Amino acid sequence: MVKTLGFPLCLLGFVYLIGFSALAQEKKVVFIILDGIPASELERVDTPNLDQIAETGGYARAYTGGKAGDYSETPTISAVGYNSLLTGTWANKHNVWGNGIEAPNYNYWTIFRFLKEARPDAQTAIFSTWQDNRTKLLGENLPQTGYLKLDKSLDGMEIDTLTYPHDEGHLYIRAIDEKVAREAANYLETSGPDLTWVYLQYTDDMGHKFGKSPEMDEAIRLVDAQVGSIWESIRRRKVEFGEDWLIWVTTDHGRKDPEGKDHGGQSISERETWMVTNAQNLNDRFLLGNASMVDILPTFLRFYNLVVSEKREYELDGIPLIGEISIADAELIGKPKKQKLIWKPLDKSEKVSIYWSPTDNFSAGGFDEYILLANVENSGSFDLPKSISKKKFFKLLIQGEWNEVNVWKGGKK
Ligand SMILES: [Zn+2]
Repeated sequence: MVKTLGFPLCLLGFVYLIGFSALAQEKKVVFIILDGIPASELERVDTPNLDQIAETGGYARAYTGGKAGDYSETPTISAVGYNSLLTGTWANKHNVWGNGIEAPNYNYWTIFRFLKEARPDAQTAIFSTWQDNRTKLLGENLPQTGYLKLDKSLDGMEIDTLTYPHDEGHLYIRAIDEKVAREAANYLETSGPDLTWVYLQYTDDMGHKFGKSPEMDEAIRLVDAQVGSIWESIRRRKVEFGEDWLIWVTTDHGRKDPEGKDHGGQSISERETWMVTNAQNLNDRFLLGNASMVDILPTFLRFYNLVVSEKREYELDGIPLIGEISIADAELIGKPKKQKLIWKPLDKSEKVSIYWSPTDNFSAGGFDEYILLANVENSGSFDLPKSISKKKFFKLLIQGEWNEVNVWKGGKK
């Protein structure tokens, strides 16, 4: 991976202008999760295909794991990370804490559900080396997901031990990844679905087995070529059909230094991820390396111009990585009975509104009423009234012109 600073800032205005003429184009999204590749390894190994995508958009380091030591702390475990991407929320909300995926809270919709609810005709697809991604995380055909149905799926080969006998060197996973990527590239080119998830696993297997090693390097080069075939399909669609394609490639977690084998904890190297995209109007949150796993869903919503109900928008833990943003990184500081709300103001000329809700009915499928506390300058700090400060649990929402940010006091009620 060659490190680039993303799109030259001087061209942002120009891109904004041509964005208007692109309004009529069909918007298509494909996101690819390459399992467990540390940013340091990706940057060291030669990855010409990812470089090519980054040259048209950007590459940046990013993070997962929620806020360490706080209510949103989220294990740096695979399925947990996928679900943070899928729902735009951390584990305290989506409730997937391990690869067992015991009780996902489907009240937090996945990007697939958001798209299908808004546009029932939208075509969706998944190509995956792990079947649970579709059956458990997306919850296909479950009453709790409104019987979400994907239009195309290819997965489950890891449980077909006749065709793919399991070997100690995990060559069967490598073979499955090859098939998944090949079929994804073919389908994308011929059918051009509106939303596609591709999941490839072999890099994680090599990481667990060998850590930082020639085997891991080889796995990264392999997966780079697989991404290349998908990128090629998209480029052909763009030329042939004039569609507007967004590709987002990322990993689900880093690995524990110095060996680069384990993950799951909150060390910097386990929390560190990266993102590669062809997006044309990446903002500073992405370019400066502050993006997180939960920012990807709001980015897709903005790319699609999808309108989301307020009650769902208020729960999203991420911020769009394209276009303008008003506020970021809210947190509560101070003594339990004298809480101060602080945040990062990005446009100080704006006013922001601060709301609070004493309940968390949303997580059980209900509705929370948000009460206006104040309209204030976007200065980055606000002292909460004592009557609210002293409560054990509440949700706060800061609403700016371009985005909102939520922060909670206390865990689940
Ligand atoms: Zn993983």
